[in-house]
Amino acid sequence: MIVLAERPQGDITSSCFAQTSKPVPVPNAGQVVVRNLWLSFDPAQRGWINDVASYIPPVAIGEPMRAYGVGQVVESKSAKFAEGQLVAGVLNWQQFALLHDSDDELIAVPDDVPDPRLMLSLLGTTGLTAYFGITEVARVVAGDAVLVTAAAGATGSVAGQVARATGASIVVGTAGSDAKRDWAVNVAGFDACVDHYEPNVRRALQAEAPEGGFSVVYDNVGGKLLDRAIMNTAVHGRIALCGAISTGYRPERPSEGLFAYQLLTTRRIRMEGFLLFDFAHLFERARRQLTDWFAEGVIKIEHDQLDGLEKAPEGLRRLFGGGNLGKQILQVAEPL
Ligand code: NAP
Repeated sequence: MIVLAERPQGDITSSCFAQTSKPVPVPNAGQVVVRNLWLSFDPAQRGWINDVASYIPPVAIGEPMRAYGVGQVVESKSAKFAEGQLVAGVLNWQQFALLHDSDDELIAVPDDVPDPRLMLSLLGTTGLTAYFGITEVARVVAGDAVLVTAAAGATGSVAGQVARATGASIVVGTAGSDAKRDWAVNVAGFDACVDHYEPNVRRALQAEAPEGGFSVVYDNVGGKLLDRAIMNTAVHGRIALCGAISTGYRPERPSEGLFAYQLLTTRRIRMEGFLLFDFAHLFERARRQLTDWFAEGVIKIEHDQLDGLEKAPEGLRRLFGGGNLGKQILQVAEPL
């Protein structure tokens, strides 16, 4: 298992985590032992190792790093989960997880899911967040012109495709490499994808926006890029604030303020932040819709997979360095 050894001061370094071993757990009544197969990497994990109370307590020093994952039940003392069953939940950076069947986040992988890794991407936190951000927060309707930042990432790529599926007529992204921009346009079906490292991003976005600007912005990045997006948002536009990865979620680095905020008033723009957990009561419906869209080829998913638990710190670092295309995951073991 990989435990948190020390809290990062700035970037995540090799001294932040340490590998240790522990015997395979033994379940009591109501518990299952899960053999971890794949782990998910999420920018929120960087926040979970800060010594800051948030919507969830921080990971304690010496505890296994918290992470979503998919695994296989290898021993069950629960009537809800059978041995051999694939499950998704908070499995952490370890080979085996001991979970209680009353844990709300522990769910069986439905039989109609064609690839269990989708439980971490399309049907996991990132895909669900994209779905609710587009349908419930930005409330995209037919004819909208939508801008999505970090468009070749796990959340952004689904947000753009959900926007298209719900009737957006223009879907534009931003991404940090040629390979990502090609993928966003040629695989995920964005109309265009702008290089956010471009010196004049405001103008580059304007060139792809319809007359008057984008009616919807789905923002994963924050900071300067959000400012440039606001400058290209139309009168009565809606901005869904999904995340601010440009901050690195580092407590010692203050977030950059918005320069263009006065445009929110003059253009009567609605800007709203949201957290996925606000929509927990709608997860089942969303998973059904996303599964159907995937089966119909309406949504394409890319898994960027590392192999071997020892690479987990690298997986987390890749999100902040732009190393991932699509959903960053890691394979811990092959299914039995
Ligand atoms: P991701 O987009 O798959 O990966 C992160 C990407 O962000 C990187 O590949 C990189 O792409 C881009 N990036 C990193 N640092 C950047 C910077 N300084 N400036 C501009 N772009 C940068 O990650 P994800 O898991 O899907 O998360 C995306 C966002 O959604 C994050 O902000 C996350 O916190 C948020 N989120 C929010 C919720 C919620 O409930 N509100 C839930 C899940 C995720 P480029 O190469 O294109 O730069």
